[in-house]
Formats: sequence, structure tokens, C-alpha cells
Amino acid sequence: LVVLTSVNKHFGSLHVLRDIDLTIHKGEVVVILGPSGSGKSTLCRAINRLEPIGSGTITIDGVPLPEEGRALANLRADVGMVFQSFNLFAHKTVLENITLGPTKVRKVPAAQARTRAMELLERVGVANQADKYPAQLSGGQQQRVAIARALAMDPKVILFDEPTSALDPEMVNEVLDVMVTLARGGMTMVVVTHEMGFARKAADRVVFMADGQIVEENTPAEFFTNPTTTRAQDFLSKIL
Ligand code: ATP
Ligand code: MG
Repeated sequence: LVVLTSVNKHFGSLHVLRDIDLTIHKGEVVVILGPSGSGKSTLCRAINRLEPIGSGTITIDGVPLPEEGRALANLRADVGMVFQSFNLFAHKTVLENITLGPTKVRKVPAAQARTRAMELLERVGVANQADKYPAQLSGGQQQRVAIARALAMDPKVILFDEPTSALDPEMVNEVLDVMVTLARGGMTMVVVTHEMGFARKAADRVVFMADGQIVEENTPAEFFTNPTTTRAQDFLSKIL
């Protein structure tokens, strides 16, 4: 579904993505692990074309990422993104946050978009907050709205960049539970997270990055019990 081939990216003299080859299959849940600065966020942003790449190719369903315009808006709809900082529209209600993309980008009629939005808010457990503004919600509620907003576009894949890192500990599980349910429901997901419990429970594959490279790839069971590289062993010894 998503194929990266020999992807390279520099920020000035810093080589942040080095010859990345990665294929994400339909229905697969890929968890990306790695130390701070290893390029995990840059990789996610590249797939959504929030960051242009230097060389290599990224295709979605065989089609190279578009550069601009209508095609880029459609790409962003196909490739949902959930950020650490929620990134909801502060001056729109929860319901409006969800219906905006479908009505503007997908041209869904307003009434239909509202019905669907309410179903999605129900699914993530915040339907009773539909008329509030983001600032009136807890972090965990805001992040569940952000997930519903991504889902409303019927994306082919959703990228999650540390979706629970900004949350108070007691709200982490309410967001992870929604993500586990999505994963089990067959959604294609790329998840950057430090939540090893989520990786063990929901990941089909763990991709370990260091210094802009994919150093190791394996099933979570194998990765956590038998990391083969010293870098992965070192990383795991610090976090487990
Ligand atoms: P973290 O776990 O801290 O979120 P990460 O693995 O997501 O780290 P990235 O954010 O992808 O890492 O950053 C990779 C490298 O690129 C880092 O050295 C970072 O400082 C650098 N970098 C990221 N964004 C930019 C930018 N816009 N301009 C210059 N350098 C950047
Ligand atoms: Mg990051």
C-alpha cells in the first residue's frame, strides 16, 4: 500500500533519512521505535508529504506522492495523521473539526458528514462533547477527536506520531484502547510510540530506527525477546 524506496532526506548537512526501504501492506500495523532524533517523525511526515524528500520514491497504491494542489489535498485525506499535540482547529467545535475535511475535500453533503461524524465520535467515546470547543476537552478526549477526524476521511492509512506522549498518564489508555480497536478492525497504521505495551499487543511488525536508518525489523515477539543488533539491545535495555 505504502512503498518507500531508497528514501533520503537531509536537513542542511544532517542526513536524517538514509536509504529507507519500507513497505507497509494493507491492514498492517507497523510500530516505529528508535531513540530521539533517529528520524521517526521525519519519516511519518515524508509519507504525508509534510516534508519533501531529497531522493528516492514514495508511492501509495503505486502512485507517487503528488507535489501540490488538489492531488496533495487528496493525499492528505488518504493518509491521515494524528500528532502528539492533537492539532485540532481551536475555533471550531468538535463536530465541525470532524466534518470540515469530508465536506471540503471529499465533497460529502453536510448532513451526511454530520451523521458520520456523530457515529465516529460515538466510536471513540466522545459523542457527548460534540458541541464543545477543543480547549474544553481533556487531552485524552482531544486526541480521540483527532483520531475520529482522521477516520472521517476514510483514509487508506493513518500515521500516529507519539499520540500519547503529551497526555497525562491516566489518559494514555483511553487513547491506546481506541488505537488497539482500530488495529484489530483492520486499519492500516504506522505508529511512532514509546508504548511498548501497544507494540506488543497490536503491532504486526516493529521497525527500529537509529541515525536515520532502519536498523532492524521484526515481529514484536522476536524484536522484544531477541533484538539482533547492539543498537536495538541498547535501546531496549534503557526503556524496558
Ligand atoms: P523524537 O523521538 O525526539 O521525536 P525523531 O526520531 O522523531 O525524534 P526527527 O524529528 O525525525 O526525530 O528528527 C530527526 C533529526 O532531524 C533530528 O536530528 C532533528 O533535530 C532534525 N530535524 C527535524 N526537523 C528538522 C527541521 N525542520 N530542520 C532541521 N533539522 C530538523
Ligand atoms: Mg519525533
